[in-house]
Amino acid sequence: MSSIKETVLEINLAHLTHNFKYLKSKVDSNVKMLAVVKASGYGSDASTIAKHLEQIGVDYFAVAYVSEGVTLRESGVKTPILVLHPQPVNFEKLIEYKLEPSIYSFRVLDAFIKIAESKDKNDYPIHIKFNTGLNRIGFNEKDVEEIGGIVKSTKVVHIIAMLSHLAASEDTEEREFTLKQIDSFKSIAKTMANQLEYMPILHQSNTSGILNYPEAHFNMVRTGVGLYGYGNDAKYDSDLKPVASLKSIISQIHELQPGDSLGYNRAFIATKVTKTATIPIGHADGISRQYGNRKGFVIIAGRKSHIIGNVCMDMIMVEVTDIDCKEGDEVVIFDGNSTAALVAENIGTISYELLTAISPRVKRTVVDNN
Ligand SMILES: *Cc1c(COP(=O)(O)O)cnc(C)c1O
Repeated sequence: MSSIKETVLEINLAHLTHNFKYLKSKVDSNVKMLAVVKASGYGSDASTIAKHLEQIGVDYFAVAYVSEGVTLRESGVKTPILVLHPQPVNFEKLIEYKLEPSIYSFRVLDAFIKIAESKDKNDYPIHIKFNTGLNRIGFNEKDVEEIGGIVKSTKVVHIIAMLSHLAASEDTEEREFTLKQIDSFKSIAKTMANQLEYMPILHQSNTSGILNYPEAHFNMVRTGVGLYGYGNDAKYDSDLKPVASLKSIISQIHELQPGDSLGYNRAFIATKVTKTATIPIGHADGISRQYGNRKGFVIIAGRKSHIIGNVCMDMIMVEVTDIDCKEGDEVVIFDGNSTAALVAENIGTISYELLTAISPRVKRTVVDNN
């Protein structure tokens, strides 16, 4: 009998420990480890992940938005938290919860200094974000002098770190571009350090930067997807262990006769006697409609079973004609064998998107074994 009684996302903390140690072993011992726990810890549970990482020696956390940092603080996380993409409207909250902003433009820098001043802050730690080729957010190299001037003219903020982000660190064909980004960041850091008369912490690498570009480790690395068990490359995936497993059960089995239709819009019509299983997970749980009509699959009794018909809001139906299974049996949507990366590939997306789509209504359970 399955121990699974409903749809659950299992979070395996032993696997998280394994991945953390593996990634840490790839950087020098003096390089700080920043764990990216944005988007609910890549769809798992940010507080559970963060508290575990605090126990095993993480140095820093990062989230995307201020609200995510507030959630971590409210669950008792004490480690420094960088907010990668804050908006000025939330700066009071950010300061109230002792979060550290990534400052990416003059608009944001000015707004932050004003609010920090009004709160009588001194040397409030900020990270300055530089654009070295991703062209998403960040200052440019030509801004260094002006940033230095502004920051030196006030006592309220202190540049604790400078960061940049790699655009294609997982893509070996973009090696030349990535090396240019790394060189550009080095040059920016040097000019900035001259201005400030000290060298802030430097961080540029995400998971694939850690694995592929030792020259981009600097003083700190930011790992997200690797911690959750995905290395953006089969050769690294085999060293990592997926933290999240999405499982469910068969709610009901139907036998369709030739000509019978299945699901909304009658998108599947049986051409032979067809056994189907209905599973309580749908697009509102994070299984996109794009997985419908045989693009997606689940694992039942160790066998691949394709989604047939359209994905409903709360259910999918899969074909089990040749699979020995019954109501109540366990269904694996993804786990360490049939991984989120493999499942995502079928609809042309990546593990990141499938993982972070798993909605809050899916129950999270924590397991701690291998
Ligand atoms: C999300 C994010 C990361 C983490 O990237 P992974 O590829 O998941 O390791 C690091 N840095 C920034 C700026 C990010 O937005």
